[in-house]
Amino acid sequence: MTWSQWFVTPTLTSLFFLLGVLTLYWFITNQIIALLKRHGRRPNVDKVRSNVGIIYMVIFLVVVQLRVGATANSWVFTNFQIFSIVFVSYFLMLEIHVWKMLLAILFFMALNQTLDIGLAWIFAVFYMSFFYSMKVVRHHQRNGWTGYIAYTLSTFFYSAILWGIVGVRFNLDRSTLLWELLSSIIILAVMYVYVDSLMASANTLAQLTYTTNYDELTHVKNYFAFKNELNDAFDKSRNHHRPLTLMLFDIDHFKHVNDTYGHLTGDYVLSHAAQLISEQLQLIDPNLVLYRTGGEEFTILFNGYTADEAREAITGIAQTVRESRFHHNNNDIDISISVGVTQMLGTDDSQIAVYKRADDNLYYSKQHGRDQVTFG
Ligand code: GH3
Ligand code: MG
Ligand code: MG
Repeated sequence: MTWSQWFVTPTLTSLFFLLGVLTLYWFITNQIIALLKRHGRRPNVDKVRSNVGIIYMVIFLVVVQLRVGATANSWVFTNFQIFSIVFVSYFLMLEIHVWKMLLAILFFMALNQTLDIGLAWIFAVFYMSFFYSMKVVRHHQRNGWTGYIAYTLSTFFYSAILWGIVGVRFNLDRSTLLWELLSSIIILAVMYVYVDSLMASANTLAQLTYTTNYDELTHVKNYFAFKNELNDAFDKSRNHHRPLTLMLFDIDHFKHVNDTYGHLTGDYVLSHAAQLISEQLQLIDPNLVLYRTGGEEFTILFNGYTADEAREAITGIAQTVRESRFHHNNNDIDISISVGVTQMLGTDDSQIAVYKRADDNLYYSKQHGRDQVTFG
């Protein structure tokens, strides 16, 4: 067999194998995140990626190790080990305490029955230093070429040492070593481009989802999100015979705040009021959601609540707004809200009917002196 056959085939096979490992990982994490969201949970995406990543990589390493650990060719999988370390440290930025890392390495050495081999201990120190160095590189990462050069130099440094030790241990000839090292550089470069582009598209998608569903000024959900979520809530409530209550409210004489203190102070009052109410909702029931459904008009969906069950929370929110002192640019501003509340009825043929009734009740509050709540 010529060197080119000997080298190119295993490199390509490893490369495609590792890209498959990455793609499968990405698929699994995205499925888990989607599943959690479908069940109404709000998963911490970075945490899910890290936790799934460590379990996935441990399974990957153990399976590879169990298959080849005892054979004379186990050095062939050195590049897979390099790949795994770079993946969890540089790309997943896993936070692992040193003692946990030590335990994992000891477990690995026990699995390989190498606890009494001095060289295995040198490997252990080496892997730990590799892991933490890649984290430092990532931590100081710059964008563009400098980031890539730092990544390449540090991975090359560790790959060269690792292959050097493996070469001595398995008595490999120089050309084999050089080709393996080259193969490792190619795998790491492709991995950089691939993982980087996966992460970038995930970030763009997250950004887009955020800007379509959230209001830029107050950072609460916007009218678009409200329309969709009210629609879902309406259907679910009807199918499962669960109550649904809507609270609509509008800040009183808000034009006066703008005219007296300026538009910037008006903006501050809006975002501060939204923040106060969101915090209060978190305390009452984290499933309650506040939406900005108009300029100075907001809505809260009380999913699973009758109007009576929501009454205390609703009057509490109106009271909080009334009693809060808004302070901006040396001005103290007092505001109040007018509220319209309604519960979905069996006779409501669509969510528009519910929304309209809440709006009529809000109008009633405005017409009868403001700063009050109308149920009906
Ligand atoms: P009412 O008690 O009847 O609700 O009186 P109002 O003055 O609150 O109602 P009106 O509809 O006359 O005025 C609403 C004002 O809210 C007008 C608009 O300029 C202001 N507004 C809407 N969106 C924003 C915003 O994002 N920032 C600021 N500063 N003002 C806004
Ligand atoms: Mg108003
Ligand atoms: Mg208004």
